[in-house]
Amino acid sequence: MGTARARAGAGAAEAIQAAAVSRVATLARLMSVTVVGSIAFDAVSTPLGSRERMLGGSAVHFALAASFFDVVHVVGPVGDDFGQDEYAVLRGRNVDTSDVEHVAGGKTFFWRGEYGWDLNERQTLDTQLGVFADFEPKLSEASSAADVVFLGNIQPDLQSRVREQCTRARFVALDSMNYWIETARDSLIEAIGGVDCLMLNDAELRELTREPNFVRAASQVRDWGPRVVLAKQGQYGALMISHEGFFALPAYPLETVVDPTGAGDCFAGGFMGFLAAHPGEELDHELLSQAMAYGTALASFNVEEFGVERVLRLTSEEIADRVADLRRMTHFVERPVELRR
Ligand code: AMP
Repeated sequence: MGTARARAGAGAAEAIQAAAVSRVATLARLMSVTVVGSIAFDAVSTPLGSRERMLGGSAVHFALAASFFDVVHVVGPVGDDFGQDEYAVLRGRNVDTSDVEHVAGGKTFFWRGEYGWDLNERQTLDTQLGVFADFEPKLSEASSAADVVFLGNIQPDLQSRVREQCTRARFVALDSMNYWIETARDSLIEAIGGVDCLMLNDAELRELTREPNFVRAASQVRDWGPRVVLAKQGQYGALMISHEGFFALPAYPLETVVDPTGAGDCFAGGFMGFLAAHPGEELDHELLSQAMAYGTALASFNVEEFGVERVLRLTSEEIADRVADLRRMTHFVERPVELRR
């Protein structure tokens, strides 16, 4: 009788332990990636065409790219003009939209930009903050428990307020752009002080730090707080300086680039998604460099068509093939040569 009870007790303990393990596993899946950033309608014109109104925004581009790696929670407001079709795009890739706040009577963030033949240069023609002007982020438990957090391009005080709520994050990265460097530089530097990694477009990094050289700019940023600094160079690729050294990858060579909008956010989505997909691993230079390859691959697909069009048709096999191509393209074997004096 005593033995039977002991066995029953042991069975119950095992069941409790199994439940706890599965809860931790479920949480690990749910802790995943959180992004705050613009959820937008974009009007874009490039030498190869134009779109008057398409789904965009830093959080949207990021989330779709990162969704190939893990569950992504999107934080941000939208207005009445954001309908079921737009939600369906995100939900179709299993992106969690519970922290997308619908502001009744409001208008969704709107951006209009134009590119000339140098696709690394773009002109902002209009920015309408809409519902972002009065947005106060309140993260759900799932969003604030994320272990990888991306503070996408948006007003830097909002980035800081999201950062403060993500108390369990093991890696937080921040992106921004000239608009915020020019209108909110102090707030931006404060927000940068709270993150592990700053990812900026090369020219914007120079503008922010007032340093013309990447190595010097990175050193200035690291004095502000982040241990990793990434400079995105559009069609030329990306550079990284971490606490352990330097790494660079070229962009994937494409014959046609249709629309570069969102490339930086897709890069971030691939990069951060890859890190999230390696829970518990040390975020060392090697892992960060591998993450850059996935960021580069995701960005390269994004620019092949307007807005999110290409990424919505993307398959995991295509991503893996492009990463393998990148590895082949950037690998070389050292061959001795006798150098003349
Ligand atoms: P990227 O090309 O990666 O820099 O990101 C382009 C996206 O950023 C577009 O989809 C725009 O909606 C969004 N965007 C443009 N200007 C701003 C801004 N000032 N703040 C936040 N998001 C912006």
